[in-house]
Amino acid sequence: MYSLLENFSLRAVLETLPNSVFLKNSDLRFVYINKAYEVMFGVKKEYIIGKTVLELDYLPYNDRVFYQKEDLDMLQNAKISHHIIKYNFSDGKVHICHYWSGGFVQEDGVRGLLGVIVDVDQERKVIAVLQKKIHNVVLQKRQLEEESTIDFLTGLHTRKLFDDALFRYAASGDRRFACIMFDIDHFKVVNDTFGHPAGDTVLKEVAQVLKACSRTGDIVCRYGGEEFVLLLPGSELDTAVSVAERMRERVAELVRLPDGRAVTVSAGCSEYAEGEYGALVLQRADEALYAAKNSGRNRVCALNAPAPQQTEP
Ligand code: GH3
Ligand code: MG
Ligand code: MG
Repeated sequence: MYSLLENFSLRAVLETLPNSVFLKNSDLRFVYINKAYEVMFGVKKEYIIGKTVLELDYLPYNDRVFYQKEDLDMLQNAKISHHIIKYNFSDGKVHICHYWSGGFVQEDGVRGLLGVIVDVDQERKVIAVLQKKIHNVVLQKRQLEEESTIDFLTGLHTRKLFDDALFRYAASGDRRFACIMFDIDHFKVVNDTFGHPAGDTVLKEVAQVLKACSRTGDIVCRYGGEEFVLLLPGSELDTAVSVAERMRERVAELVRLPDGRAVTVSAGCSEYAEGEYGALVLQRADEALYAAKNSGRNRVCALNAPAPQQTEP
């Protein structure tokens, strides 16, 4: 029984291939190129056979030197190399190609080098167009998120809405309000242990508790990552602390990790001091949160507003 390959001449098979194929001997001289190679570079077999790559004047000189050096390495060590390379084709255009070459040793000890060049220009161009489209979609999504007042994951308000509200409340000058900043404790461990989707579930559940415990009129936001902020119109520091304490307790009671352990949050509270910038109120809430973290987490800390400045009569 003949195997299928033995019925055919290898030359006839290689001549049929749509990809360029070349074969070099142990002196790195071409002993064969197929028809596709002839068409690709617009050269005849008779011109190529017997030459080394250094003599191929349709290739840039530096490329020829590079190939000769690499071919020697492939041949001597029976290794394989591949590159994505731009070639000037006989159609006058530059094509992006996948170049592959491999050194081999026959059973009789004779060494040779086989090369294949595949035109991947079309695929590459399609990939480039798709990459650009994906990049644009990501940019649009980011822009949409930045402009949006509703957080996609939790359904709470966004940082943008909070910052605008904070500015408005402080700018009005006469409206009392307080802020609470929450941060989930050891949240990185949640992601690392149970995965990002489980982390997202925890974020949604904490958000639900904060929303459920808030009053109508309170502004409840996901400030970013695993941080939440609340603006409590008409409230003083004491009220903010008791609201934060109730929320902290409810989170520890209701939000569970997949293994049953409680999720905890730390909180920092502050209140508006007449005439100050809104950003300072939030900064004090952040400082108070830092203190809550440093004093053991799963707790609420507060920072008093600065005493009013005495003005000279
Ligand atoms: P600490 O108690 O000091 O607050 O520790 P922590 O681990 O909570 O703090 P850290 O700031 O190191 O970790 C915050 C983590 O929140 C890291 C980040 O991967 C994760 N995170 C931020 N945004 C998201 C999100 O949208 N989804 C998920 N699953 N994780 C998020
Ligand atoms: Mg944080
Ligand atoms: Mg945290």
